[in-house]
Amino acid sequence: MKSDIRVCSAWETEHERPVYSLGDTCPECGSPTANSAPAPFSPEDPYGEYRRALKRSDRE
Ligand SMILES: [Zn+2]
Repeated sequence: MKSDIRVCSAWETEHERPVYSLGDTCPECGSPTANSAPAPFSPEDPYGEYRRALKRSDRE
């Protein structure tokens, strides 16, 4: 069975960091939850790797 970790859909405004839940609603603010991304979730800089790659190619 696949893991079914969900994340508060309003965490960006309601919380300082993602709030995960196994249920349909956030345990802290009651907002609906959304399926979390299957890839490692990096809330602080989701596009950091991509941006750094662009920066590198800019310099060359
Ligand atoms: Zn929440």
